[in-house]
Amino acid sequence: MTNADRQARLILSLRQQGVTDPRVLKAMESIDRAVFVHERFLDQAWEDQALPIDCAQTISQPYIVGLMTQALDVKPRHRVLEIGTGSGYQCAVLSRLARYVYSVERYKSLLKEAEGKLKTLRIDNVITRHGDGGLGWPEQAPFDRIMVTAAAPGEPTDLLRQLKPGGVLVAPVGKTSVQMLNRYTAEEDGSFRRESLIEVRFVPLVEGAAKEQ
Ligand code: SAH
Repeated sequence: MTNADRQARLILSLRQQGVTDPRVLKAMESIDRAVFVHERFLDQAWEDQALPIDCAQTISQPYIVGLMTQALDVKPRHRVLEIGTGSGYQCAVLSRLARYVYSVERYKSLLKEAEGKLKTLRIDNVITRHGDGGLGWPEQAPFDRIMVTAAAPGEPTDLLRQLKPGGVLVAPVGKTSVQMLNRYTAEEDGSFRRESLIEVRFVPLVEGAAKEQ
């Protein structure tokens, strides 16, 4: 089976699992996941599974990337904040749908590697930052959309405050190994509507100073 066949099979499987937004599927088709996968796992780049990356972190499962991206409902004029750059894959997918993507990662080495990959793909609408993403990016707030790709221990209140009215935030929330994927919508009156989507497994959103590693 060629890589193109594997990719087509994956996209079909995402569709069958409910990722049906054509813009999301097109964005995912346009990004070669193999670029973001560790060399050791290249043969699994087009399988629907999470894979290890450096610093004991993971590149998310394509179905979860598709589902979260669809739930975020990104429009072409949007400024999107992503917390947890990791491999840069989710960031690359978002870059196809948004005007700008701001992405924060606490491991310097992961961030450098992801930046290199985004550059290889000539993606030029991503702005990155090495820091604690739990605090968001106050200097660039407010955002139209926020995606958290690490598990927040509780309601991500600091991040919710950085949403525009009408904005949407998608985040896994929970302290245990299985978390609930929540979608929050900022209402005009300053309150938030919360919907629970599905159970997911993410690495934790770590609080405190970013790693120089
Ligand atoms: N979006 C990534 C998934 C990465 S896994 C991808 O597509 O590959 C989650 C990432 O969140 C890890 O790289 C981890 O280091 C990072 N992370 C965890 N806590 C963080 C924090 N407080 N601030 C920024 N990044 C954080």
